[in-house]
Amino acid sequence: MKIHLLRSPELDAELFENVFEIVDKYSSPMKFLMHDSPSAFLDKEIIKEDFEKSQFRKKNSLSNTMFPETAFSMYLSLNEWRPEYPEKIEKVNWEAIFERCNTFRLQQDLSTFDRVFLLTDYSNDKNWFSAWDPKRSENAFVHAAQWEYFVPSDPRFPIAYEVMVVALQSIMFNTYAEAKLYFHKKPRGCVNDFCKDKNDIALKLRTADICPNCQTLLLERAVDPLMSRQIFQTLDDIRANMLFRERIKTTMQPSRLQISGKDKKIFFSDLAGTELKLGPLEKIVYLLFLEHPEGLHFTELSDHKERLTQLYKETGFARTVPELHNSISQLIDPTENSLSEKISRIKRKIVSVLGPDLAGYYIIDGERDGKKKILLDRRLLLNED
Ligand SMILES: [Zn+2]
Repeated sequence: MKIHLLRSPELDAELFENVFEIVDKYSSPMKFLMHDSPSAFLDKEIIKEDFEKSQFRKKNSLSNTMFPETAFSMYLSLNEWRPEYPEKIEKVNWEAIFERCNTFRLQQDLSTFDRVFLLTDYSNDKNWFSAWDPKRSENAFVHAAQWEYFVPSDPRFPIAYEVMVVALQSIMFNTYAEAKLYFHKKPRGCVNDFCKDKNDIALKLRTADICPNCQTLLLERAVDPLMSRQIFQTLDDIRANMLFRERIKTTMQPSRLQISGKDKKIFFSDLAGTELKLGPLEKIVYLLFLEHPEGLHFTELSDHKERLTQLYKETGFARTVPELHNSISQLIDPTENSLSEKISRIKRKIVSVLGPDLAGYYIIDGERDGKKKILLDRRLLLNED
């Protein structure tokens, strides 16, 4: 089954790609694809309204009622989670949203097996986090903004969560009307919680679970077990990531970093094994800096030419000897820009995977013209050779 994710033009492209990376991690049997939406919302489709603060509970009432004395309530009180509310919000109608899905279907000549989900920053007239098209259950949308009012988390996780849940529901149920009969009006920490009070979403995200009734339903409906496994694996990863990120604010203990396998893949072990994907030269630079907790001066790099060459061979990237020689000479030449470029590219990738708060432990950083280093406590480095 293919799930086409459409990015509405107002939605940040990097956030969209980050969400895609999360949902696409186990890419079988359900396959996710990224596209741009066929068109932006027109001015006449956009409804401007005053922002209703009343729908958002105060930080304290949320932590006290839902998670008394948990790490989460501590997290909220310690970290002063006070999002800035806007004056106005902009909404679009469900019809306008699903029109984009249908246009895309026509353009691509898609079958009823293809799902089309639009991700947009605009709120919607019914104020839902996500929903299916009542007229056509293969279409859906996910609201990709305002998450900071409900969960103190990097927004990519709740958005990815909604994408997976809509995908699951579209397999479990035939029509939207039917699905509505099964949604739980009282929250029980199940993927099918309706969350009429939008604040209840925090519970659903923290459990990322499915209740016994809905499990039975999955069996009765003969949902492909591989498909539901893929969905729940991804939901588990999202949950692990969110919980770890909450905890780190109180424990100040960043994720372990694991280097594994023949090609020295780099994983954040405590973030559901999220991989840091680096290019060949970026990777050897990163590994070299990991080996030097005291830091390295740019001008010192030529002393490590041999080690860089060796690391390159160990990572198993194919390149001819002269090519390799060339790239490494460029890398260690302090008059060239190659090293700084690699370091900023590595930084960009780390920030994109971890978000700005956590990234500080892993990036190669230091004073201008001084030594550069990776702050990570090397006891958290697992080198599995
Ligand atoms: Zn349930």
